[in-house]
Amino acid sequence: MVSKAVALTLACCLFSSGASDKSKTSNDPVFQQLDHIVKTLSGITGLEQKRAVPYGRMNKRQLHQFLAKRMKSSMKPDEVHADELSLKLFGLVPTDFDLKQSTLDLLTEQAAAFYDYQEKKLFLLDTSSFTEEEITLAHELSHALVDQHFDMSKFMEEGPTNDDENLAHSAVVEGQATWLMMAYQLKQSGAEPVPTPDMLKQVTEGSDSNNALYPVLSASPLYIQRSLLFPYVEGTLFFDAVYRKLGKESFAAVFKDPPVDSSQIIHPDRYFAHIAATKPALPAWKLDGSSKKVTEGDMGEFDYTILMTVFADKEKAAHLAPHLRGSQYRILEMGKEKRPVLEYIAEWDTPEHAKEYLAVYKQVLQGKWKACEFLTGTETELGGRGDIGYFTTRLEGAYVTSLEGIRDKEEWARISKDPPANAPPAKQAAPKEAAPDTAKAVPAAKS
Ligand SMILES: [Zn+2]
Repeated sequence: MVSKAVALTLACCLFSSGASDKSKTSNDPVFQQLDHIVKTLSGITGLEQKRAVPYGRMNKRQLHQFLAKRMKSSMKPDEVHADELSLKLFGLVPTDFDLKQSTLDLLTEQAAAFYDYQEKKLFLLDTSSFTEEEITLAHELSHALVDQHFDMSKFMEEGPTNDDENLAHSAVVEGQATWLMMAYQLKQSGAEPVPTPDMLKQVTEGSDSNNALYPVLSASPLYIQRSLLFPYVEGTLFFDAVYRKLGKESFAAVFKDPPVDSSQIIHPDRYFAHIAATKPALPAWKLDGSSKKVTEGDMGEFDYTILMTVFADKEKAAHLAPHLRGSQYRILEMGKEKRPVLEYIAEWDTPEHAKEYLAVYKQVLQGKWKACEFLTGTETELGGRGDIGYFTTRLEGAYVTSLEGIRDKEEWARISKDPPANAPPAKQAAPKEAAPDTAKAVPAAKS
């Protein structure tokens, strides 16, 4: 469900120190390091540079203009509306949230540099010190090398078939570049170019600390924060796990045989075992009146982790999210007034975990709306009225389904009395083993 807006055909280097606004001339010394940096990266990865990479500098104001223009050309209003509505109906952003503006402000604040894989050019923002800029360049040049060997546009735009897969691909791209940025630093100091556990720990902790430096990021909803940071943090740990198993082959392996969902990023063992999320089919609810489909998609372990962190707590999220097998949702707009309806289904590895999730989802329903009135409530069914209309949420075996935004009490009573059965999954995935509770390699996101 992560908005594609944050990708924007750019691969950014985040964690800008953002201190200086001084402008530098084109013969500034850091770019004289380009050849040296590329050669070092090629030595580590075995990927040779095919063409020199054009480069330039930008200040924050120019970046803001550039991003605004790129967003206008690459994001259709319908897609922005669909992404924004999805986030709002799940309660992951406030109802007055402006996705486009927030993304623009956030990227302007966060980017230290970026590689534009549409134009094949890299840009460095004015940051504070030569050393920082050199490391940032190592990150961007890693993207350029990868692009010359594995076609980043194709990898990011044609490969993924859903948002959770898209997030996994971003994690491959940013995780590898962040890992290589650290490897480059080590190589420079004469050490083995493999990030140490301490350095990896800093990646995780660093993403949680600099709140005062980043007012836009820290004011963003948790879901927005974490979807921006996930590719860099969890992506780096994922790449490290792949490197430790495959060595030098890992640089190509993650592009030739990429992870397909956020769960494989969080649990590299699932990537190695090719255990992928299922696609449970939505029940055939029969709603009154005409409807238009706004969007549909997958929810992955990342989405559930944040949902449960926001509305329950992070311990619950860390315990339960790894047990998700797969989830699908669809958003409709009903009639002329375009009343939104959310349909969704979550498949869990056992009926017990599904039952546990139903209890958590009661907290989600209570938390995401200003008013939530329960009219029915049993061990397997929750029904009532929320901000967008009536809802019915059900547990059936290992599945939890929810229909939210039913027009009135009569329609709700009819649907609740005779709910459709869960449709058989469109494609039955291979059986998946129950995930151990302790499998989560990454500490849960801070709330
Ligand atoms: Zn990057």
